[in-house]
Amino acid sequence: MHFRRIEFVKKAEFDREKIESLLWEFAFSLECSGQILRDYKIIKKESYNLYVTLPHEDSFDEIHDNDYVKSHREELLKYFNMRIFGEGINLESKPYCKCKNRSAIEMQTFSLDIDSVFSCCDCGMPIALYELPFPAENQNTYDWVESWQTNFSSMDKLWWNCLCDRYTGNQRVKPDSALNKQGIEIAIYMSKELKIPVYYHLASDYGKSVKIESVDNTTVHVCPICQKKMIPVTVSENFKIDVCNECNLSYDQPSDY
Ligand SMILES: [Zn+2]
Ligand SMILES: [Zn+2]
Repeated sequence: MHFRRIEFVKKAEFDREKIESLLWEFAFSLECSGQILRDYKIIKKESYNLYVTLPHEDSFDEIHDNDYVKSHREELLKYFNMRIFGEGINLESKPYCKCKNRSAIEMQTFSLDIDSVFSCCDCGMPIALYELPFPAENQNTYDWVESWQTNFSSMDKLWWNCLCDRYTGNQRVKPDSALNKQGIEIAIYMSKELKIPVYYHLASDYGKSVKIESVDNTTVHVCPICQKKMIPVTVSENFKIDVCNECNLSYDQPSDY
């Protein structure tokens, strides 16, 4: 959403190689915590500059740092002051959810998506990752969501480019594919921690293996796990999904195909 330039103003002598690798580690840890989106760049001019998209205006503030980000920031602050410059709004990214309470969340991504994979089912907007819970063992690497997003967007790109259609198609569509199992595990964890449904969005193969049935003049998906008819939910004009509350799965509504 908010595009920013963060300038690192030198205040002490440093080893160039060590500092450059620290800058990359800092940026990656910010990406994994969700304080910056995945489209960042580090540019060297007179000083180092980190170009980033922030979900919220205050996302770069220390208050959102996890231990991993905090340790990199503290190390960098020994050598630099950090100055932030506003560069405008990044049109590749959506405005972010500011809801105090959320009734449900959907987890979804696609090949060119730079936003958070979690969207609020009340306002329809993405949710900054640092607002969500993470397992203790992921606090230091913090990269399990980032890893799934990279895997899914790579698979999606291969599928759209018509490479290995059967393999890439099945990975996106089948609930028990390695790719979807990785994502569903994250959605189930989030759902348990937040005590609200977190729907994992499945791709549909337009009726080849995914079943659709009519209910009261509308068509809904049949859940591929429990085989029950799914429930249509309208979040906004462009956000209409069928959901299964028992299996925490969702599809785009059939009328949207
Ligand atoms: Zn919201
Ligand atoms: Zn189900």
